[in-house]
Amino acid sequence: MSRFLTASKAQLTEYVPGEQPKRGEFIKLNTNENPFPPSAEAVKGVGDVAAQLNIYNDTKCTRLTEVFADYHGVDSDCVIFSNGSDEILAFCYLAYCDMQNGLLYPEITYGFYEVFSRLFEVNGAEVPLCDDFTINIKDYFGCNRTVLIANPNAPTGIALSLDEIEQIIINNPNNIVIIDEAYIAFGGDSAMPLTKKYDNLIVVGTFSKARSMAGARLGYAVANSELIADLNRIKFSFNPYNVNAMTQYLGAVSIERDDYFKQCVNEIVSVRDWFVCEIAKLGFRTLPSLANFVFTTHDSLSGKEVYNHLRNDKILVRYFDGEKVKDFVRISIGTKSDMVAVVESLSKML
Ligand SMILES: *Cc1c(COP(=O)(O)O)cnc(C)c1O
Repeated sequence: MSRFLTASKAQLTEYVPGEQPKRGEFIKLNTNENPFPPSAEAVKGVGDVAAQLNIYNDTKCTRLTEVFADYHGVDSDCVIFSNGSDEILAFCYLAYCDMQNGLLYPEITYGFYEVFSRLFEVNGAEVPLCDDFTINIKDYFGCNRTVLIANPNAPTGIALSLDEIEQIIINNPNNIVIIDEAYIAFGGDSAMPLTKKYDNLIVVGTFSKARSMAGARLGYAVANSELIADLNRIKFSFNPYNVNAMTQYLGAVSIERDDYFKQCVNEIVSVRDWFVCEIAKLGFRTLPSLANFVFTTHDSLSGKEVYNHLRNDKILVRYFDGEKVKDFVRISIGTKSDMVAVVESLSKML
């Protein structure tokens, strides 16, 4: 750290991304990536887009917006894209939160929420989960702050129903409710349709997980057009060219190749359900996940022990240090053969 860094930035705690080892070194189940690549058709077309990179990209993501809005049945002016959904979340913090206008999120959730609270000097507060790791929606009613909830939540994988989400929105009519749907395609119900009914709802999503595009960086928000105009105000005051041309192209093809997308998602969901049954036979208790990862615990092992054992077998998963989660590991769902390897390694350990 240099002596020039401002005092507030010198105190930041950075987000720690999951390890990205050399390709092929590990079975990589630590960052909830999709085990399947983008469609062959998408990959093939990128070269033509790259050939025109001397020209600036479309700041409005026109074609991607049209394809996306049509697919989801929303108006084009109710959509904004970003360089990963982390960036959209940052835009939301900048637009709606500060020390007076605070923010509320679950105590156990995506680590970036707290990191952003510090970076943007926002009054961020945490609500404990219930003992079974579920969210009690009443904790968020009339809270007089912006509400930010990942649905399904991470790292638990537990989802709220659409009705519960709606209750949170109705009970905070004068505050923004942000629903982070990074994992919604793996089984939860999207709140996107509610954006037509409520002017205080922002649904945030990403192409990183279900759409196999983590390395391309594409996120989005859907909300009523006034909220989207707010977010565009931030975007055009910061980096109008935030979504590069190749990513815009890949995103549009991903939506057009709906068959390939659904095939990948269905496979992950069926492997997840198989995997949960298999590790239950070994004594693991797994929270009910509607995501592409599971959060699981064993009475006789700490999360770190499971992590270390799997790591020795060249399988990378994630464990967290917090008091309430230290007995768990989070395991992303890979291909069937990846998960067979995990089951074999865990049975060896026990
Ligand atoms: C992965 C993840 C994101 C970030 O996705 P990017 O689009 O890759 O930035 C956002 N929210 C949650 C809950 C996530 O798990």
